[in-house]
Amino acid sequence: MKDYEIKYLKKKLLNEQQKVESQLTQAKKNNFGIGESIGSSTGELSTYDNHPADLGTETFEQEKYMTIRNHQLEYLGDIRDALQRIDRGTYGICAYCGIDIGFERLDSYPTAKLCIGCQKREDGEEINKNL
Ligand SMILES: [Zn+2]
Repeated sequence: MKDYEIKYLKKKLLNEQQKVESQLTQAKKNNFGIGESIGSSTGELSTYDNHPADLGTETFEQEKYMTIRNHQLEYLGDIRDALQRIDRGTYGICAYCGIDIGFERLDSYPTAKLCIGCQKREDGEEINKNL
């Protein structure tokens, strides 16, 4: 990959890192109430209403929050990994087969560790394991 491509992706990763970090901070401030920022920026929770939880739904809300939080933490870890790989000069190289992952794939998925071929194999194996 070219230097300017890596620079571009690094910037993208740093932006994402900042976004996820502020979402996590925001969520903490709101206790386990799901922060507006998480809901609106992921788009997945657009139906979420921020009115006080009814009795009995609190556990559900807390579980939902924990799931989102775990996702965010996992994503943040992936972003930090990717930034470390940039520093080490191994970014953009498939961790399994060693070929270039390619700029286009990284542009849409900057935390990718595997090339599309290895990723498909990995996903396939996981699906088989679950069966
Ligand atoms: Zn590969």
